[in-house]
Amino acid sequence: MSEALTKALPLLAALEARGFEAVFVGGCVRDTLLGRPLKDVDIATSASPEEVIAAFPRTIPTGLQHGTVTVVHEGGTYEITTFRTESAYERFRRPSEVRFVTELKEDLQRRDFTINAMAMRADGTMVDPFGGCRDLERGILRCVGEADARLQEDALRIVRAVRFAAAYDLRIAPGTWRAIRRHRGLLAHIAMERIGLEFDKMIGGSRPERAGALLAASGLLGCTKEPLPEAFASAAAAYAALPARRRSGAAPQTSGFRGLAGIPDAEDRWAALCALLGLGGDEGAKLFGTLRYAAVRGERLAAVLAVHGAMAERAERDLLGLAGSPAAENAAAAARLPDDTRRSWILAALRHGQAAALAWTGIVKRMPDLIAAGGQTAEQRYAGLGPYAQALEATVRGMPAGAIRDLAVKGKELLALADRPSGPWLGQLLQGLLEAAALGGVPNEKAALLAEAADRLAQIDKPQ
Ligand code: ATP
Ligand code: MG
Repeated sequence: MSEALTKALPLLAALEARGFEAVFVGGCVRDTLLGRPLKDVDIATSASPEEVIAAFPRTIPTGLQHGTVTVVHEGGTYEITTFRTESAYERFRRPSEVRFVTELKEDLQRRDFTINAMAMRADGTMVDPFGGCRDLERGILRCVGEADARLQEDALRIVRAVRFAAAYDLRIAPGTWRAIRRHRGLLAHIAMERIGLEFDKMIGGSRPERAGALLAASGLLGCTKEPLPEAFASAAAAYAALPARRRSGAAPQTSGFRGLAGIPDAEDRWAALCALLGLGGDEGAKLFGTLRYAAVRGERLAAVLAVHGAMAERAERDLLGLAGSPAAENAAAAARLPDDTRRSWILAALRHGQAAALAWTGIVKRMPDLIAAGGQTAEQRYAGLGPYAQALEATVRGMPAGAIRDLAVKGKELLALADRPSGPWLGQLLQGLLEAAALGGVPNEKAALLAEAADRLAQIDKPQ
């Protein structure tokens, strides 16, 4: 038993001492069997929520109507949920009402997949009435009970199936796969917010490329309540063209998205994915809006995609010269980046933000396919990408000024120098000075910038 479970054993003991049944359930049991780190430890019990509250000194009534009480124990929090069933489903969504029961098996039966429907007792013995262990060993994702009925009860399970199959590298059982394809239209009843949460877990998870392939092969991308941007959904068409054998639950192992897993940050993965699919900044922001992600995430994505739009073509052009050369030669060539590349790179960083520019170099370093879109021999063609991206990164990091606040001269000083009322000219002047300083044309020093400003003001004042 893992340390995380051992630490929670006193909670099971406290409930058992009061005569209740209490077990570990769900993800923590599954991940323990797989030897994966646990995200959280969930407990199920025959005790009612009131009885749970009475059994522990520190509790938070997180979801009483669903039977869930959060217990604080040794600095950690644990969700303890009363055994329950969900009998009445309402329009393909999870029910708002639940019925508490005393049988563990009934509780396990309401769960979505066999690998999620196992329980572990305090002594380590498993309660596994639906063969979750065996499915896990054989690498199979299977609905508990009749797949058709289970996916119709709650259509979110259709997306969850893809998420779990991808993250745990499972094949989807034939009956479950058929039911997914048959009932995918029911996704239209599920709130975009919940779909967005699942998508986020897929992209941030261990096999994002497999999730993408399965989403496309199952045709789910075209079934959401609000349509996803066309460019995004069209990935489905690309995958649908794969041979049928690979389109089955066995899912293609390779895909255009295979580099995604090599990118550590989930936001960067999203950016890489959107760039691969050819989404522009606006489309990226729209996709995030549709998935109900926070506005700041959409803004960041749009900025990285804008940098991609500004830089990808140039990088491709520059890199053709590097392709196939020995590493040392490539490094030397990268050190002599064309001047106009450096220049346009700095301007892109100024326009869309240094952070977005650095995010993009970080992504292309790990994922050459990004600028060799569609190219099957990206690795060969872009053997020189590493040094090139490093040179770009160094250029951005080394910019003498990245934003107006970095300038060695302040707006107030320019106002005094110009001796005229503030107006749009001030912002334009600051922006002009910033570009000059960032490109290295003028040192980022007060005297030099004031002299440059005086010159520019004289130009503005000159009669035409
Ligand atoms: P992770 O937290 O790693 O994503 P998990 O298995 O803990 O995986 P949760 O979404 O946290 O997944 O749900 C906890 C458990 O609740 C699941 O293991 C499953 O047994 C059950 N469950 C969650 N959502 C559903 C659903 N839509 N239908 C049926 N059972 C569900
Ligand atoms: Mg969980």
